[in-house]
Amino acid sequence: MKESNLKEKGILYIVATPIGNLEDITIRAINILKEVDCIAAEDTRHTLKLLNHLEISKPLISYHRHNEETKSDILLEKLKNGENIALVSDAGTPGICDPGEEIICKCIEEKIKIVPIPGACAIVNALICSGLDTKKFLFLGFLSINKKIRKEELEKIKNSQETIIIYEAPHKLKETLKDLSNILENRKITIARELTKIHEEFVRGTAKELLETFQEVKGEMVLIIEKNQAKVKTNEEILANLTLEEHYNYYEEKGFEKKEIIKKIAKDRNLPKNEIYQKFI
Ligand code: SAM
Repeated sequence: MKESNLKEKGILYIVATPIGNLEDITIRAINILKEVDCIAAEDTRHTLKLLNHLEISKPLISYHRHNEETKSDILLEKLKNGENIALVSDAGTPGICDPGEEIICKCIEEKIKIVPIPGACAIVNALICSGLDTKKFLFLGFLSINKKIRKEELEKIKNSQETIIIYEAPHKLKETLKDLSNILENRKITIARELTKIHEEFVRGTAKELLETFQEVKGEMVLIIEKNQAKVKTNEEILANLTLEEHYNYYEEKGFEKKEIIKKIAKDRNLPKNEIYQKFI
């Protein structure tokens, strides 16, 4: 569907707001908040404080985890009637561990235009100052309190070949660091605390060292965990360690014919085909 066919309906703006420092609101976000017909907010009292600071007065609609389903229908009706709406969460980027998905999916179904208004997001700012590999990362949100799911998540962290990012609440930090110290050995962790606020800090160490540092902790935090540096063996490396018979069986199990197998083994081992052939007659 071309954007030009979406014009008569309203637009849903997904507006990022500060994660601490109020100066982190963008000029574009301010303009959008001024222009829209109403603002859907995770906590209207919280957003009202931001709007008062920005001297913006707008109708607010509560849109949080527990009313997403019903409120998204109300918002959808407004959008269908041509109203423009800004969706904001309490802090940072809506949809990132915050409400947003429900209304966004409905807008996609109803072919209503969605426009992101970028800004603060705790993940990105924690990662860029972590000192860990920023090229590839795995974001797991908050670790689950369900034992089985948490175990699976910890297993993912243990094996991840990418830097891992998790959100954590201060009262759960100790338990999480204990869990991490059991699986990570000496892998580095950066705790990014109170980002953009007065007491912003980055504390670095292994899970064990951080457990000693943080006996009691307050504020908001993101944990950035070093990837598993253990080198994953390439297919060639695995094959090179097989005996000739095992190498043959490997391809046979994959359904290759004898002639093809010999050709493949010769190529893998950089040996003449005849030499391999002689060994199998
Ligand atoms: N949507 C938000 C974002 O874009 O980052 C995240 C919302 S999630 C409900 C809240 C969690 O984000 C906190 O528990 C903390 O892990 C992280 N967070 C939010 N603000 C932060 C800050 N200023 N410093 C460190 N972590 C923060």
